[in-house]
Amino acid sequence: MGQFSPRSLAQRLESLARAGVTHLPRRSTHGKRTGPSSGEKNNPGVVISSRDDQHVDAMKALSREVAACTQCKELADTRTQTVFGSGSLNARLCFIGEAPGADEDASGEPFVGRAGQLLTKIIEACTLTREEVYILNVLKCRPPGNRTPNPTEVSHCRSFFEQQISIIQPEFICCLGASAAHAVLQIDAPIGKLRKRWFTFENAHVLCTYHPSYLLRNPAAKRDVWDDMKLLMAKMGIQV
Ligand code: URA
Repeated sequence: MGQFSPRSLAQRLESLARAGVTHLPRRSTHGKRTGPSSGEKNNPGVVISSRDDQHVDAMKALSREVAACTQCKELADTRTQTVFGSGSLNARLCFIGEAPGADEDASGEPFVGRAGQLLTKIIEACTLTREEVYILNVLKCRPPGNRTPNPTEVSHCRSFFEQQISIIQPEFICCLGASAAHAVLQIDAPIGKLRKRWFTFENAHVLCTYHPSYLLRNPAAKRDVWDDMKLLMAKMGIQV
């Protein structure tokens, strides 16, 4: 916390206290719960750190299951690889997108293309890092031509993203775009109608916002997403 003035440090401590934080570890941030670090880096697309080894093992087993999945024949036949998820298993906040695109299919990591770079900026504007949140998609395979996932594909992948959430147990989920919002909340309303409202999934508070790809096509909507992020940060007890 060396970069804070005494006043902003006091504000940060007050905001942490409001978020229920009573102890600060030596090196931690507001995005990540504390706990033993797994040091599991042999699959960097999967786990950066975790609160305990059981969760690491469960996530690794799940990622192997995903990698072997061929339920959607078209997707299994055309993918380079599955794209599981990345970030911290201690994350307080998960971002859920729709499906990998070409860059993600090539790299095996979610949100690394242009939309991903914008998501990184959004996360950093919230004073968080990609390493302390967890990023996943509803679909683990790239739909050819980046078409929208169909309902059968979503139903095949449902148990995978549900298990990821139940292992991480985030306090907050941010659904990026209509596909993610519809898949997580199982309601069918335009994304504009789902914004600015709190939903619940498992025990997490869920907020929906526009997908970063939409922002690339409609930069004026960045203001709306920033409003959504302010709502999210306020609920997380993060001051910017
Ligand atoms: N769009 C998504 O929804 N997910 C990604 O990983 C990349 C782009």
